[in-house]
Amino acid sequence: MSAVLLEGKPLAENIKSAIKQEVQALGFLPVLASVIAGENAGAESYAKSQKKSAENLGVEYQFHKLDAAVTEAGLIEYIEGLNADKKVNGIIIQMPLPAHIDYKKISSYISPLKDVEGMHPENIGKILFGKAKIIPCTPAGVMELLNSTGVDLYGKEVVIVGHSEIVGKPLALLLLEKFATVTVCHIGTSKAGKLEEHVKRAEILIVAVGKPGLIKGQWVKDGAIVIDVGINRIADKIVGDVEFEEALKKASYITPVPGGVGPLTVTMLMRNLIEAAKIQS
Ligand code: NAD
Repeated sequence: MSAVLLEGKPLAENIKSAIKQEVQALGFLPVLASVIAGENAGAESYAKSQKKSAENLGVEYQFHKLDAAVTEAGLIEYIEGLNADKKVNGIIIQMPLPAHIDYKKISSYISPLKDVEGMHPENIGKILFGKAKIIPCTPAGVMELLNSTGVDLYGKEVVIVGHSEIVGKPLALLLLEKFATVTVCHIGTSKAGKLEEHVKRAEILIVAVGKPGLIKGQWVKDGAIVIDVGINRIADKIVGDVEFEEALKKASYITPVPGGVGPLTVTMLMRNLIEAAKIQS
């Protein structure tokens, strides 16, 4: 058996066409404000790629560059200015922030109506009640990928490896909403020597850890759907967390890395922006 590749790009292109139409239907130019504090080449290059995607969709992308020495209070004041600016529909804070600034604290100062990353406690809380309109980008992208396979999630054994606030935890809630049976594994699962046994029974396996080769291809259940969120740079190559070649032989669908989840994450950011603009208008 050789798995079907679950490529993110074609799916992202379809969603982008729908977004373009929604932008036109809005009747005004949606604006995404991107805040960078200090110098960071990675954050700047990521922001540039967001800018390109935004502009392709007819969205205005504003850079707001602050000094590395900006205080937490200074950054909060800046965000409050963007919250009050009627032209700005969405706010994104680029990571990493300078070490003296606590992202969790800062993210709760973004207006929940402009929180396009879906990380404000109010938006996260709405996921719990199945009422969220703005959903964290990577989990939203994973749900789109799963949906594209046509799989019925009802009662499926889903194993998520990784329990971060931006991926694993919100994803678990989204999957529970679809009545999947969800197991969330993390470092404690590995330390207890139980990772393999959980992975082996996954009908749907989603891995977001950041450790290349953590998931052995042999552990993948025959016919499983494998979504590899991990991004790891090894020499000049980018790889995921799953042993791809081995897993390919066992899975029914598998995401490549790069080119699987990645293209959807930025697309979901734009979808959230449009959703935010609609909520505000
Ligand atoms: P994180 O560091 O916040 O969380 C890592 C998680 O992995 C934690 O739950 C931790 O307990 C778990 N973990 C660590 N070692 C483990 C082990 N040996 N066994 C089992 N679990 C273990 O990471 P994150 O921000 O959620 O990102 C995870 C990965 O996903 C990274 O590679 C990141 O680059 C990637 N990522 C990709 C996208 C995308 O768009 N494709 C988006 C976000 C994150």
